Amino acid sequence: MRLKLSKFGEKLTAGAGIVELMADLGSALNENPDLIFMGGGNPARIPEMEAVFRQGLEDVLKDPAKRYAMTGVYQSPQGDLAFRQQIAALLKAHFGWSVSADNIAISNGSQSAFFILYNLLAGNMVDGTNRSIHLPLTPEYIGYGDLGLSDNFFTATKPEIKLLEDSLFKYRIDFSQLQISGRTAALCVSRPTNPTGNVLTDDEIEQLDKIARAADIPLIIDGAYGLPFPNISFVEAKPHWNDNTILVLSLSKLGLPGVRTGIVVANEQLIQAFSQANTVINLASGNLGPAIAESLFKDSTIINLCQQQVKPFYYQRAQRTLALIQSHMQEIPYCIHRPEGAIFLWLWFEGLPIKAVDLYQRLKKRGVLMVPGEHFFPGIEDNWHHRHECIRISYAQDFPVVEAGIKILAEEVYRAYAEG
Ligand code: PLP
Repeated sequence: MRLKLSKFGEKLTAGAGIVELMADLGSALNENPDLIFMGGGNPARIPEMEAVFRQGLEDVLKDPAKRYAMTGVYQSPQGDLAFRQQIAALLKAHFGWSVSADNIAISNGSQSAFFILYNLLAGNMVDGTNRSIHLPLTPEYIGYGDLGLSDNFFTATKPEIKLLEDSLFKYRIDFSQLQISGRTAALCVSRPTNPTGNVLTDDEIEQLDKIARAADIPLIIDGAYGLPFPNISFVEAKPHWNDNTILVLSLSKLGLPGVRTGIVVANEQLIQAFSQANTVINLASGNLGPAIAESLFKDSTIINLCQQQVKPFYYQRAQRTLALIQSHMQEIPYCIHRPEGAIFLWLWFEGLPIKAVDLYQRLKKRGVLMVPGEHFFPGIEDNWHHRHECIRISYAQDFPVVEAGIKILAEEVYRAYAEG
């Protein structure tokens, strides 16, 4: 039998960037552990966090009622009520947001939350028009790229590039070019941003909020790396939420990507729609994440752990990796996006004679996995050269691995420039 795929099937199997990335990640971490893996977004192993999660799991396993609740019952459609109440209390206490459990829904990872949210808001509308998600600043998260069920799902704005001292630069939203129309369904940003480690300033977020309100569309903020957890943000930035914001959080980057728990914080109407769609697609979200995390969310434990363990771990890693690049790449015209958060460095090799995707292949042959920049520009139609000059590296693996990878990267980039 020849497999005949629907349009949906064709779209989801057509070699999406995220599929290639996760396949590389799977083979690196599970099948070929000798690869120098600086590709996907797997979080680091932080022993103190692992100990806390193990304790959380042991507490559940020791208690027959909790054990049964974790494995023997479906979570309610919107997500475990006690867990939602704890999250709401935490957001209220720390940021003063006016949220209750009704403003919160649990998903099977934030990736699946984005699939639902995007397709709830954009695509083919009942009045026959099409709507798209606008990304006010690209580069943006590779995983958004193929989530839309209809064509032309994204529009995007190219950034302003601000050159800084010490071979650093920073992307800013170019508000003079940011154009939305009656066909824009929502604005979406990740903050801190995957792939660049950028943290949009409070001023940028305020302006986006105003634009979204004026257009009567939501502002989606992807806080996978952000506040209040895992808080991998190295600069001062005010967390943002109001009833026009959809904030999407996740337990993954705390060190729990395997439990697949995402959290959506939004107005009640949106949460209702989200929960209904989530029920159709998933029936219920998994219980494991809420069960392990419950004791951490009951008080401020999670906030303190992020502040004392997670943030400093990644901050030190970022600084060490930065220093390593600076020492190994003196002969190379490199530029690095200022590391302000998340778990990546974003390198820009201006005038690189080969495309970043070819550099990726050369590195792969030498046993190093990094992600070429091309995939991080959903919604940018034209062949902007900048996208072929950038590469994303993760610094979450053990440091000797990161160091070995940077050395090989420096050699390959040097060779590419030397070949002209
Ligand atoms: N958003 C961003 C910016 C990410 O980097 C990721 C994963 O790497 C996700 C969302 C999805 O994460 P998860 O589905 O594990 O919550």
